[in-house]
Order: sequence, then C-alpha cells, then structure tokens
Amino acid sequence: MRGLLVGRMQPVHQGHLQVVKRILEEVDEVIICIGSAQLSHTLKDPFTGGERVMMLTKALSEDGIPASKYYILPIQDIACNSVWVAHIKMLTPPFEKIYTGNPLVQRLFLEEGYQVTTPPLFYRDTLSGTEVRKRMLNGEDWESLVPSSVIEAISEIDGLERIKHLAKKEVSEK
Ligand code: NAD
Repeated sequence: MRGLLVGRMQPVHQGHLQVVKRILEEVDEVIICIGSAQLSHTLKDPFTGGERVMMLTKALSEDGIPASKYYILPIQDIACNSVWVAHIKMLTPPFEKIYTGNPLVQRLFLEEGYQVTTPPLFYRDTLSGTEVRKRMLNGEDWESLVPSSVIEAISEIDGLERIKHLAKKEVSEK
C-alpha cells in the first residue's frame, strides 16, 4: 500500500522526518509532495521547490531510510481547490491513504472518497516551519529543529543570508 503526505516544508524540519517515519510503519511506500513548489524568495516561502526536494532527500538519506521506500515530487499550486486532488493524482504514483494535519487538504481528499489520517504532531510549538524561519531571521537556535543534512543544504544555498536579505527588502517595500 502507498500513502501520500503533502507539505510546503519551508524548510524541512524534524517534525516532517518523524511523520515520514511514522507513515512508513503503516504503508510500504510514501509519496511526499513538496507543495507550493512555484513559491520561493519570500519570508513565508524562502526556498525553491528544488531546494526543498534536496533538503528532504538528504534528510531521509541521513536517517537511513531506503530510497526505494519513497518518492519526492515538487507540486505547484493551482487556482481551483475543487480539482486539486485530480491535479495531485495526475502527478503522482497511485496511492490509497492520505496523511495530513492541514484542514483544507483533509477536506479536499475526504470529498473525493479517500481515507485521511491525521498523524500526531511532534513538538508542534517548536517543530514548525514558521518557528524555524523566525529563529533563522532572529539569529536564534534553529539548527536543533532540523536534521544536520538540512543545515548543510541551507548553508550550500546561502539560505540564512537569503532570509535576512529578504527581510530588509520586505521592510523597505512597506
Ligand atoms: P506543512 O509543511 O506545514 O505540513 C505538512 C505536514 O507535515 C502536516 O500536515 C503534518 O502532517 C506534518 N507536520 C508538520 N509539522 C509536524 C510536526 N511538528 N510533527 C509531525 N508532523 C508534522 O505543509 P502544509 O501547509 O500542510 O502543506 C499543504 C500544501 O498543500 C501547501 O503547499 C498548499 O499550498 C497545498 N495545497 C494546494 C492547493 C491548491 O493548489 N489549490 C489546495 C490545498 C493545498
């Protein structure tokens, strides 16, 4: 059986890694869709779809999860929520189960007759993309919230400097 997880993963953090491992206890393979793949270079969505694919690939490899157990696909958003599930189906291998804590994603898949599971959140007060980005911007400890391979990937693309630079830009545009 195959399961599907969708997330913006801006950036990939320990919560994403934990949920992937949890899903793989229930299904043979997991399809991980990197959502909003067209977005990048803003404070809310600083990293490109490709950069997030790299972060997740390296994090799963670092954790020893065999590449045969997952597919990582960047998925662009579309304007019409009502046909989003068909858009996902067009771009992914067949799947039976959906794993998501996002109410909109839950609703759209439920209406198409899918089995939707809400995985438990691990330390949601700190393990969230919002918290990681806030800490990056404020010079606080963000490194403990992400796998070490994600720290290296963010360093490779000069991601910390990008976020700080974008903050200057967004202030100057106000
Ligand atoms: P996210 O990265 O915040 O979370 C993804 C999933 O990771 C969550 O549902 C949850 O299961 C898991 N997770 C996150 N933190 C966790 C933690 N601490 N512990 C355990 N698990 C944790 O992403 P999201 O906002 O849910 O992503 C949904 C994506 O779907 C977005 O990119 C959105 O644009 C896209 N979408 C697009 C359309 C459209 O194009 N019309 C419609 C619906 C959704």
